[in-house]
Amino acid sequence: MDTQWIIDTMETWSPKKWAMANDNVGLQVGDRTKKVSRILTALDLTESVIEEAVQNKFDFIVTHHPLISRHVPPVNSITTDNVLGKKIITLIANGIGHFCAHTNLDVAPQGVNELLFELLQLKNQKPLLEPTDPPDGRAGPPDGRAGPPDGRAGPPDGRAGPPDGRAGLGYPTLGLVGDFGEGVLLPHFAKHVATVLNLPNIRYVGSEDSLVKKVAICGGSGGNSQLLQAAISQQCDTYVTGDIGHHFALEAAESGISLIDGTHYATEVQISLAIANHLTVAAQKQGLEVLVEVSRVQMPVFRSL
Ligand SMILES: [Zn+2]
Repeated sequence: MDTQWIIDTMETWSPKKWAMANDNVGLQVGDRTKKVSRILTALDLTESVIEEAVQNKFDFIVTHHPLISRHVPPVNSITTDNVLGKKIITLIANGIGHFCAHTNLDVAPQGVNELLFELLQLKNQKPLLEPTDPPDGRAGPPDGRAGPPDGRAGPPDGRAGPPDGRAGLGYPTLGLVGDFGEGVLLPHFAKHVATVLNLPNIRYVGSEDSLVKKVAICGGSGGNSQLLQAAISQQCDTYVTGDIGHHFALEAAESGISLIDGTHYATEVQISLAIANHLTVAAQKQGLEVLVEVSRVQMPVFRSL
């Protein structure tokens, strides 16, 4: 197969038009016509993931987070004087291409948020922020809430939903809302989140006798007021996300909604396995030979004691 097959396969799953306006997704490094036989997947394109690809002769890497983004200091030259330049030069020198699907994959069916929803064993999936143009012809949120903040396009054209018949929404949404059974006490639910996300410890905001029954989630970086207010307006008692800062935590505490910090990494890392599975299944269906593996060296950047 060639690089363009990877791009087409990934963009059929999570079209580029679903990405936020300030995001940078798609082919980041490489030649669309180059043949690919060994693909590595990861959450981040770290130096150690690139080294892993070089050592194990992978010729392509698919990640969730972009290599070139607003989170990376801008550069005026591609040299080994800076980390971004070093990464690009190492990739090119070793014939390794790179593609990322970021906010478009956050919102895709069986993307970051649906995976997190299933991991947390939530039920009755609903959007946290409704798309501006829902597939059933409704005009938008009944209460005048704004749709996705970035003017992202609405639902896909006639897509039937998750390919395996699981009960996803089948159209892109930012964040999800679901029910956690008959409800449990907040510390119990926080422990459950830590267990399923493989976290050694977990931070939460809320009182120990708070009940967790209706939960909003947003994988990655969801510590913003708009998502919190959407969760509150949908009568969620708990919000699980990552990148939670002091002021956002205070806002939640004073609004009476419990908050669980699942961490950016742990709420998203499972997407690297989903990408590997997606590419493997697509290749098998088309009789194409390719090896796809998940990075064995990726790990959270934060350590805890
Ligand atoms: Zn992220």
